[in-house]
Amino acid sequence: MKTIGIIGGGQLGLMIAEQARLLEVRTVCLDPAADAPAGAVCDDHIVGRFDDPEAVEELCRRSDVVTYEFENVPGEILIPLCEKYHIPQGYRPLYDSQDRLREKSNARDHGLQTPRFAAVDDEASLRAAVADMGLPAVLKTRTLGYDGHGQLVLRSEADIEQALPLLAVPCILEEFIPFDFEASIVMVADRERIVSFPIGRNVHRDGILDLCFVPAEVDAEVLRRMKSQSERFMRACGYEGILAIEYFVRQGEIYFNEMAPRPHNSGHYTIEGATTNQFRELVRYLVGQPLEEPRLVAPTVMKNILGQDLEAAERIAREPQEGVFVHIYGKSESRPKRKMGHITFVGMTAAEYARAWADRFV
Ligand code: AMP
Repeated sequence: MKTIGIIGGGQLGLMIAEQARLLEVRTVCLDPAADAPAGAVCDDHIVGRFDDPEAVEELCRRSDVVTYEFENVPGEILIPLCEKYHIPQGYRPLYDSQDRLREKSNARDHGLQTPRFAAVDDEASLRAAVADMGLPAVLKTRTLGYDGHGQLVLRSEADIEQALPLLAVPCILEEFIPFDFEASIVMVADRERIVSFPIGRNVHRDGILDLCFVPAEVDAEVLRRMKSQSERFMRACGYEGILAIEYFVRQGEIYFNEMAPRPHNSGHYTIEGATTNQFRELVRYLVGQPLEEPRLVAPTVMKNILGQDLEAAERIAREPQEGVFVHIYGKSESRPKRKMGHITFVGMTAAEYARAWADRFV
């Protein structure tokens, strides 16, 4: 039986481990928290930090193949280990996605359209970039930003003053795209083929994914273009394994926003809403099994459960209903805006969700 090592033990690690178990593959995760969600399902859990070289190497030693479930694994640790152990996705996709400036430059260099952007490091470069790009614009920290943390929309000159504290670290200023909708794609690639999951339309709240509707119910030609350009991009970059890309769409134009070389929140619907899911295909890739092309089972809605919605989700979980799948990640501490679980509604359209379910959540 093969063992997959997972750097990180959050909900993504948990769902990788669940699918691995179904495919008779062992898992071991590395996470600093003794009560990390994946720890409950993995066969082994190494309690250790991601920036502790000994801990990461211990994970590699105990695994046949290693993957990661979050982006911020330090290169100085992973690069030497990629030489010694089987880490088939390698460090490259992490390197390309860890810094928003590098990430957008890489996307543009490999054929994707991005919002206009500029590096800003101080007040002078921020004012110069605003003068060039105009307002509104979005200021984001280059590294370690996620779910809308470390970013600010500048709407008028007066907002520049407020933005200055963010410039304590290197930032990027981006053109604000008044998008018609957001969408994302998840792909899994081995040497021979790429499989991609049906594209969903995403709705964010406070910068955090709130809802995902699949199919996206938007122009099919735009979705076809999104799929083909994403697959071309993945090949052009030489990535293997799993890759998710988030886009903004405005009047038929597709703009790259960001990417992640790991399972993606917008792909959680695939567990019940598709014939195979993002976690299972990642596991198949890692253990060298042929990939399976996914198909949508029925229109599906995924609702993220943040701390403020946990009680409502637990109530729903107690009243089983056909097509409603409640996932609670088992995190020990619930906080507003913390991802605590998700619910998948299979056989439901966006309109039906709005009518029957939306008002059950905060
Ligand atoms: P990010 O962390 O970059 O994915 O940003 C979180 C959310 O903020 C996105 O999903 C969008 O809803 C919004 N956002 C980020 N960048 C832009 C932009 N350049 N134009 C418009 N909205 C944006």
